[in-house]
Amino acid sequence: MTAKLIHGYEVVIGFETHTQLATKSKIFSRAPTAFGAEPNTQACAVDLALPGTLPVMNREAVACAIKLGLALGSHIAPVSIFARKNYFYPDLPKGYQISQFEIPVVQGGEVSFFLGDEKKTVRLVRAHLEEDAGKSLHEDFIGQSGIDLNRAGTPLLEIVTEPDIRSSEEAVAYAKELHKIVTWIGICDGNMQEGSFRCDANVSVRKPGQPLGTRREIKNLNSFKFMQQAIDYEIRWQIEQIEDGHAIQQATVLFDPDTGETRAMRTKEDAADYRYFPDPDLPPLHISEQWVQEERAQMAELPRVVAARYVRDYGLSEYDASALTQSKATMIYFQQVVLGASTPVSPKIACNWIMGELSRRLNLDEIAIEDAPVKPEQMVALLTRISDGTISNNAAKQVFDALWTGESNDVDAVIESKGLKQMNDSGALEKIIDEVIAANPDNVAQFRAGKDKAFNALVGQIMKASKGKANPTQVNELLRAKLAG
Ligand code: ADP
Ligand code: MG
Repeated sequence: MTAKLIHGYEVVIGFETHTQLATKSKIFSRAPTAFGAEPNTQACAVDLALPGTLPVMNREAVACAIKLGLALGSHIAPVSIFARKNYFYPDLPKGYQISQFEIPVVQGGEVSFFLGDEKKTVRLVRAHLEEDAGKSLHEDFIGQSGIDLNRAGTPLLEIVTEPDIRSSEEAVAYAKELHKIVTWIGICDGNMQEGSFRCDANVSVRKPGQPLGTRREIKNLNSFKFMQQAIDYEIRWQIEQIEDGHAIQQATVLFDPDTGETRAMRTKEDAADYRYFPDPDLPPLHISEQWVQEERAQMAELPRVVAARYVRDYGLSEYDASALTQSKATMIYFQQVVLGASTPVSPKIACNWIMGELSRRLNLDEIAIEDAPVKPEQMVALLTRISDGTISNNAAKQVFDALWTGESNDVDAVIESKGLKQMNDSGALEKIIDEVIAANPDNVAQFRAGKDKAFNALVGQIMKASKGKANPTQVNELLRAKLAG
């Protein structure tokens, strides 16, 4: 595929995502990680960096890294190293952050997803364990700033991609896929407002065939909407700069949702500025093959494994299977529909309804699928009435609407009260067809002269005359037979 160009430029994006791990306690101390506590009530001596304290690795955080590595097909390093990343900031009491530098715990792997109906794969460089810093709270009621160290020492897994992403849409699709995976395997609660899943987008542009351009890094994107806006703005800005003859300076920038613009915070430090060195307080992290196997055995079935099963067992396309496994809740809904019917419903039809009418209404009303007013049992009843020929697809949409709005929760009752039963009496249908043929001699002549459109016009008239109750397949067959006769 040729890359999409903007004003003759190719966009290049690499992502760094900080996922906050869903452990009960911090990465190197026993202080709790719960969100929203009073400032400085969840920071112990280790988090405060009091003299004489020593970090102790939290086994659960390592288990999370192993699960991620298994989910993304990465190499899980049998030995990895913790390093000190040195910088000064008021919310960093030790004066360094414990991170992993030269040998991270998770290496390589990839994330695949659909962008429209095109499959994309983004390669990962690494994922490393590190601790979060505290937070500066600016301008309290007496105009002062303070430091809250509750977040200091919260375990993070930073997931870094190769610069494989080629547009803002692809960036968002990647981030959504990664978000799905980390929440699916339960290593992160995925709450973006609370900062549990924060993305940094490294963006550069170049003329096709040229080496990589200089990047600017947009920090802390914590909503998919802002992510798209920020990257789009940044791309336009960089192209304008270059077209005006200015070179891009490597920089860290922030997106301001109020102005829709990105703004430079600081010029970018190089790794050398951080004076990384192995942390003498922490021994190398050893992960045995047995530990990896234990985690594998306990892990939930991954979305791509479930999707592959749907392709194999139900004959669904990869695209459909991927849509049905977009979240655990969607997968559960689908399974309840397909497995919950006494007479089997077609998985393809179930998929079309879940990804079609149901998704459309969920989006419109901004409801999560687990709260959908149309429950899987009702969907089963509805699909059963379509497949046994009681109602047409169009009538089914009316039934769905009645269920959705709470007008009724019984499929058969809605069909009855709205008179939606399909006309299965071919005598009555034939009468309508004869009438429509007699009333539309022009269309009949055009059809005989080889115009298919005229046939469709006749079908439309018949459906209308039957008030939508005729079975379209039956109408097609009968009409064709009559016109041929
Ligand atoms: P650092 O650690 O200094 O931020 P890295 O080399 O680790 O730098 O890269 C960070 C991220 O930036 C990675 O996701 C990488 O793919 C991406 N990246 C590197 N160079 C470019 C570039 N020229 N354009 C876009 N993204 C880039
Ligand atoms: Mg970076």
